[in-house]
Amino acid sequence: MTQKETVKINAEFNYEVKEENLKWTFGGKDISSWKTWSPDKKDYSGQEFLKIENLKINTIKDESGKLKSIVTADLNTDLLYDTVDLSPRSIRVKYPDMIGNYDLKIEDTSTNTSFKNTMKLNVYDSYRKYDELKPELDQIFKNAKSNIYLNYESIGKSVEGRDMHFVVMAKDKSSVDKYLNETVPMMLENPEQLQQKIKNKALGDYKIPIFINNIHADEAPGVDAQLDLLKKLTTQDVIKYKTLDKNNKETEVELNVKDLLDNVIFVMSITENPDGRYYNTRANANGFDLNRDNGYQTQVETLSIVEQIAKWNPVSFLDLHGFVKGFLIEPCTPPHDPNYEYDLIAKNATAQAHAMGNAGISNTKYDSYEIPFEDYDVNGGWDDATAAYTGTYALHHGAMSHTIEVPELNQDSVDAFVNAVLGASSFVLDGQDELFISQLEYYKRGVNGEDNRAADKYFVNSKGESIGRPRGNYENFFPEYYVLPVDSKLQKNIPEVQETVKYLLRNGVKVDTLDSDTKVGNTIYPKGSYVVNMHQVKRGYANLVLYDGINASDFKEMYAEIVMNFPDVRGFDNYEVRNKNVFKGKLKSVKSVEKIETKINGDSEKYIIKNSNNDAIKSINELLSKNKDVYVLAKDSKANEEGDYVVNKKDLNEISKKYTLDIEPFKDDIPTLRLREPKVYATGSYSKFVLNELGFKLVNKSEDSNIIIDDIGSANPQ
Ligand SMILES: [Zn+2]
Repeated sequence: MTQKETVKINAEFNYEVKEENLKWTFGGKDISSWKTWSPDKKDYSGQEFLKIENLKINTIKDESGKLKSIVTADLNTDLLYDTVDLSPRSIRVKYPDMIGNYDLKIEDTSTNTSFKNTMKLNVYDSYRKYDELKPELDQIFKNAKSNIYLNYESIGKSVEGRDMHFVVMAKDKSSVDKYLNETVPMMLENPEQLQQKIKNKALGDYKIPIFINNIHADEAPGVDAQLDLLKKLTTQDVIKYKTLDKNNKETEVELNVKDLLDNVIFVMSITENPDGRYYNTRANANGFDLNRDNGYQTQVETLSIVEQIAKWNPVSFLDLHGFVKGFLIEPCTPPHDPNYEYDLIAKNATAQAHAMGNAGISNTKYDSYEIPFEDYDVNGGWDDATAAYTGTYALHHGAMSHTIEVPELNQDSVDAFVNAVLGASSFVLDGQDELFISQLEYYKRGVNGEDNRAADKYFVNSKGESIGRPRGNYENFFPEYYVLPVDSKLQKNIPEVQETVKYLLRNGVKVDTLDSDTKVGNTIYPKGSYVVNMHQVKRGYANLVLYDGINASDFKEMYAEIVMNFPDVRGFDNYEVRNKNVFKGKLKSVKSVEKIETKINGDSEKYIIKNSNNDAIKSINELLSKNKDVYVLAKDSKANEEGDYVVNKKDLNEISKKYTLDIEPFKDDIPTLRLREPKVYATGSYSKFVLNELGFKLVNKSEDSNIIIDDIGSANPQ
């Protein structure tokens, strides 16, 4: 569909045929009725899409004197959408319907004799539908050279239950085991020692991962480039590609795959969004843009990918997107998140971006690329001050991390990706020690609690003036600890604290619990409180989740930022501790989080459930769906608020293990109203998702509802 093609036709009839008797069809439709897309009429009624040209019928006598006719012709295909680039959104949604196998048939209507050949109409040569990915991966594994280790794993299921394909390619299995079981623990526990070992050549052979991903599944080249690349790497000994040298002169690189795999492990998340690839959409099946969800992590696909990034701690992370006409390769413009060690990111990631860009343009029709960090204005609006994007999320793990936006949706842009990734790979191969030491430096600052001023230069205001990290009155931007109590005296929302601890663990942040009551200043933190000791490699990410955030209001525009600040956004109490070593020897590492059950004290017939957390809403929705009696307080009282719930003890007993609820006996001294199960009609994807999560019963038509939640303004309240 993105390039004009000529198919040579050669058919032999064992008798004499006449041109006027030949009927040409494609997919059962007359050839001439195939038309290109008409943007005006919004249907396929444009120019001729298929043409039979150079038709020749050569009739000869064979040895036995019988006549036979040889029919030759060219089947020429035009551009179905009158463009070589299918990236415009209006077209991108059209092409999936047209992909498929079609029979080209030549029929002699005078004899009913026919010739048939099946042809595939595709977006571009290497485009694969979701269902074609796994069979092709299997084929790649089968055809791979024997000295390459390949492992397939499904790292999770999409909303609709499709596998998230994940491929690891390395020299051998022991290289992968050694990295995950020996190198990573050292990286996380003692990065400084590991730096020394590398400097003293005491580490021996080691390998570091390059992690490749695609999220926006309708930015199709990012998926196909990974399979194309995998094919190359698993079948060729030496891969040749062109790039530019320091003087911008074209030069050829011979990348030896054995050398590469002696130093690098490839980790490929073919697409983070399987449902998106299936339906050719940007969003997942819940309607969420996964490349805005890495901060909040609400979607199953996001949970799976962040777990893998936190597990692999890649030295380089490449997120394959489209479409920016200038061929965009990050790093980004300001404002930068002050939790990054940006001096360490800026140097190596920018150099790697050039390696990608030079390789990307030297082997394709493209002749330039752009790096927002260098090429855009300070207010350029392509910033990385949020972990919402996967590319910026991976920066928090010390990776040279890039979102890469190819210009077009066609084979040229697939090839640009393949070469860009080869350029990125050569860059890691050539600078392995230096790049890994730099990532370990990022980690080391964390462990040492170091607020290195070298990063300040990169934290600028909208005028480009360095403002450094916002330290307030403190010397160190980072606190010593955060404490998240789970005692109701110091904590208003226990379930949300528990969710946050699970969140932190998933993201590679270490969390401890306090083994005894400990007084710091005027506060006694009770035994059992969660403590985030900020002396750790992922402290920057912990801080992003738990601190107030930055004020970037002076910037003209930002791309698609989110407020993190989980304590305020999710509503729990969080205590910043600035005193050094106050919990030393008192912390025990948390491996998992057990749900805290609701303890029912006293013996009242009815209990108040305070409307204080999401568990309260979920538990009430569960009781209502089971037709249990539920009431709400009709006015405030001393200890309770209008809108708190009242339920029977016997019903509370049934759900108390499942939910963490604030309850107290109900003394019948406050007026109540009976609550009925609401029938909720919601319009937008986000509200539907949230309401489902909270256990509301959703109806499909507004007329069947008694509550309408309309966040996109499309419901008809009549
Ligand atoms: Zn994208």
